[in-house]
Amino acid sequence: MHDLVKGVHQFHNVGRRQHLELFENLKHGQNPEACFITCADSRILPNLITDSEPGQLFTIRNVGNLIPCYGTSNNGEMAAVEYAVVELGIRDLIICGHTGCGAMKALMTPVDPLQRPHVPSVVNWLKHADATAEIVRTHYPNLSGDELIQVTAEENVLVQLEHLKTLPVIAARFPTGDVRLHGWMYKIDTGEVFYFDSEVGQFVKFGDEPRDDSSQKRKAGTRGKS
Ligand SMILES: [Zn+2]
Repeated sequence: MHDLVKGVHQFHNVGRRQHLELFENLKHGQNPEACFITCADSRILPNLITDSEPGQLFTIRNVGNLIPCYGTSNNGEMAAVEYAVVELGIRDLIICGHTGCGAMKALMTPVDPLQRPHVPSVVNWLKHADATAEIVRTHYPNLSGDELIQVTAEENVLVQLEHLKTLPVIAARFPTGDVRLHGWMYKIDTGEVFYFDSEVGQFVKFGDEPRDDSSQKRKAGTRGKS
């Protein structure tokens, strides 16, 4: 904790002073350009990987970047999405998964409950990714290790985007283009970000357009390849 407290002082005395006008403006309210939904994993810093500033991203984080389907429970995720869309007028929502996701590993790793520390809340929460697990088991039966976890994270982004559409505020606005949904994947070791290109059914690295360069495209997101 010592380093964090030291960092608080450093930020107040140095970092904040370099952006006084920005912080002065932020006191009047927020007008973020996107809602960024990602994992609670400490290695992901949304503002860092998008090179954005305070006020630009309305961020929702949880274990595994999950969005429960509407009606399954009352939860903070739904409230945050509603607030983002209705109150803040945000039109772009991004769900960003990542490589090496512990939640995805837990989802796909069969465990003996008696051999594992009891984490009933985590087990219960990950049920919101049951469809992800079933898709991976069905379409990628031969994957294992890091490749399995990465494909699971990618498929989970697509599943959670579908869950978003069950929320009334999204269901009413997505078909008309009043909100846009984006699936991203962050690669922790390289800092690269991929987006899901629905036209080709694949995750494509930002900066690798045009799309005809197939060597730059990743196979993930295309089911049944294994
Ligand atoms: Zn994660």
